[in-house]
Amino acid sequence: RSWAESKLGTELLKAVEKAGYKTPSPIQMAAIPLGLQQRDVIGIAETGSGKTAAFILPMLTYITKLPPMSEENEAEGPYAVVMAPTRELAQQIEDETVKFAHFLGIKVVSIVGGQSIEEQGFKLRQGCEVVIATPGRLLDCLERRYAVLNQCNYVVLDEADRMIDMGFEPQVVGVLDAMPSSNLKPENEDEELDEKKIYRTTYMFSATMPPAVERLARKYLRNPVVVTI
Ligand code: AMP
Repeated sequence: RSWAESKLGTELLKAVEKAGYKTPSPIQMAAIPLGLQQRDVIGIAETGSGKTAAFILPMLTYITKLPPMSEENEAEGPYAVVMAPTRELAQQIEDETVKFAHFLGIKVVSIVGGQSIEEQGFKLRQGCEVVIATPGRLLDCLERRYAVLNQCNYVVLDEADRMIDMGFEPQVVGVLDAMPSSNLKPENEDEELDEKKIYRTTYMFSATMPPAVERLARKYLRNPVVVTI
């Protein structure tokens, strides 16, 4: 088990080393190569497993392949969204993301309840590649036109079972439906993918798989690989 096997680029390998992560955790070994291939992933893993880096590192790799955010594209919104059930978890994910993103010049904005929505709207207008959010506040920003997700093709649902338990299914669905659905991979998994097209990649992490979480997975994930740690 080594980072060299993970197929991450040199910049991120350096960032991982700087963070002091000597070897990848099992969920990282399993999920990072799948994310780099833009496969959809269902991760059954708890906090403490290193799941955050398991979805952040392939997400950042995906973003480095896109044009940098500039005046031309920032009005179309972020390239990637992470949703989490609570402000505290969103904060932890932001800390973990910034650790790696700042090496790549990638901007991260967090959109959570309990803070000024006008200020969050202002930050969004300045442009960022990654948004980390609680679903209710992000949907509120979308409805007020403070945020758009016209070029968001990489999405992570962290602790999906908790988001459902807390009653956020409609908000999660509202946010997912604001992303371009034309980029969902074909439902028929035998259908060939267009090599030149960018498809939506969806990562879902959950400690359990109750029916409502399975329903979300069936609607928004395509041919997902289930990784259980
Ligand atoms: P998570 O499960 O993503 O909440 O991560 C739990 C903690 O483990 C966080 O404090 C991470 O910074 C840390 N961590 C994640 N991956 C590694 C790794 N490969 N080596 C050492 N620490 C790690």
